[in-house]
Amino acid sequence: MTDFTEIKNNLKKIGYKVTTFEKGCEAAEYIGRAIKDSTVGIGGSQTIKELNLYEVLINNNNDVYWHWIMEPETAITNAMTADYYITSVNAIAQSGEMVNIDGRGNRVSASLYGHKKVFYIIGKNKITKTYDDAIYRARNVAAPLNAKRLNKKTPCAVSGNGCANCNSPERICKAMVTYWGPMSGMETEVILIDENYGY
Ligand code: SF4
Repeated sequence: MTDFTEIKNNLKKIGYKVTTFEKGCEAAEYIGRAIKDSTVGIGGSQTIKELNLYEVLINNNNDVYWHWIMEPETAITNAMTADYYITSVNAIAQSGEMVNIDGRGNRVSASLYGHKKVFYIIGKNKITKTYDDAIYRARNVAAPLNAKRLNKKTPCAVSGNGCANCNSPERICKAMVTYWGPMSGMETEVILIDENYGY
C-alpha cells in the first residue's frame, strides 16, 4: 500500500484539501456524494473516464458537461462556468506541484477559474519524486500516450520514445501549466488513489 503521508502533508501545507482512497470505486462514490444538485464540468481525462464519473454524476446533478461524450463546443463552453470542475493532472510531485499539458486550452483554463470548487483526481502512477520529474513525466510519458490515443502523426506517437519537442502540425502540446497551489477564492481538493488511472 502506498504511503501518501509526505505528499498529503505537502499538499495540505500548500492549501489543498486532500483525500486519499485505496480504490478508485471508493473515490467515485465519494465524488458522487460530494457533488449533487449542481452543474459539473469535466475535463478531457482518461482517469475520469476509467472511473465512470460521468455516469456517477449525471443522475444526481442538473447538468454534466463533458466534451468527450457530447457536442464538444457547447460542452466546453458550459463546463467553463459549471459549479464544479473535475479533472486529473499529467503529474504530481511529492512536494505538491501539479503539472498539466494542454492542446486546446480548455482543460487548463477551466481548472484555473470560474467554479465553486475544483477536484483533481489522481492515480498513484502520476506521482513523481521531484517537480522536475513531474515536468518530465508530463512531457515524455503523458503527452506521448495522449498523442497516441488521439492517433496523431507526431514523433512521440510514432516512435514511442518520448517527446521530441516537435514542430508537427498535429502537436498536442501547446501549453504547460504548473499548479503551485489552489487558486485564490476557489476551493480545491486533491483526491489521491492507490491505484493506477489514466496516463
Ligand atoms: S511536443 Fe510533439 S513530440 Fe513532444 S509530446 Fe507533444 S506532440 Fe509529442
